[in-house]
Amino acid sequence: MTERTTEHAPTGPGAGPAEPGGGRGPVLDLEGVTKAFRGGTTAVEDLTLRLTPGVVGLLGPNGAGKSTLMRVMATVTRPTAGRVLLDGTDIVARPKAMRAVLGYLPQDFGVYPHLTSREFLGYLAAAKGLPARTARARIDDLLELVNLTSAVRRPLGGYSGGMLRRVGIAQALLADPRVLIADEPTAGLDPEERARFRNLLAELSRDRIVVLSTHIVSDVESVATDLAVVAAGRLLRHGSPDSLLREAAGLVWEAVVPADAAAGLQSRHRVSRMVRTGDGVRVRLVSRHSPLPDAVSVPPDLEDLYLLVVPPSRTGPAAAPFQAALRGPSW
Ligand code: ADP
Repeated sequence: MTERTTEHAPTGPGAGPAEPGGGRGPVLDLEGVTKAFRGGTTAVEDLTLRLTPGVVGLLGPNGAGKSTLMRVMATVTRPTAGRVLLDGTDIVARPKAMRAVLGYLPQDFGVYPHLTSREFLGYLAAAKGLPARTARARIDDLLELVNLTSAVRRPLGGYSGGMLRRVGIAQALLADPRVLIADEPTAGLDPEERARFRNLLAELSRDRIVVLSTHIVSDVESVATDLAVVAAGRLLRHGSPDSLLREAAGLVWEAVVPADAAAGLQSRHRVSRMVRTGDGVRVRLVSRHSPLPDAVSVPPDLEDLYLLVVPPSRTGPAAAPFQAALRGPSW
């Protein structure tokens, strides 16, 4: 299946060179993609984005339009306007061109509870048309990869949420996809599983496009080669983490303040972290100017950048870091 992809065969207008990275691997172009629902919600609006091999982190708050955009890319739903081109082929008009090379892990991934993981993956492999012998070997490899070998004889109905997520990851990889789209893949995974999954993605992404969505910055900061930050259906930023971080240089400050001053700072600034210390609360915030005489300028991280570019009403309850800091010594 891998060799069937149209690596170097652009077929339509908009098919650009397969850059960057030397021209290997697929290129997925979103051009002015809009998805409006009948009730009046526009989940994705005029979004233009070029995806090339690597791990692309689609980062944005809940309701930003991430799932909808992924469903459009996965040809599960059609955009109301705009085009999606895989190596120049319009996949809205020709969804099979995408489906032949796609692995997709939706958010609401369902299983048959009475089947074991091996039976379930075997069933999906047959549905995808994989030859039985290839499928058996592949399924064993994948079960090992997602650390489920010891549970293969148990019915899926008895699996934990994290285990089911791992079955979902395995099914998305069944056909050795050139494009892997995973919607909040690490939801429900414990920290060790998250780390394992991040390493797996990094390995897979060498000549594949791997798109994963999350609203948790730390899920993507160590693994993403590219970040697309979205909010309210709009693309706010797109680039490598380093290039995006440059925008926040000189705008991040830390200061230790008495606990009662921390709330005031939070009402005036975007606070990315608060940690209770022996002599008050260490506050980290994003500000154009030094917020206090003894504030120290610190190098930005992606959490800071996220706060800088995503409008306040979109990032969740403003009081969360402050309340968390008051609950305990660290968080
Ligand atoms: P995210 O994945 O970033 O949380 P979604 O793509 O799920 O965002 O949703 C974006 C917006 O579109 C939300 O306001 C959501 O309520 C709305 N939405 C999503 N799916 C539908 C649908 N099938 N019908 C109507 N509105 C929808």
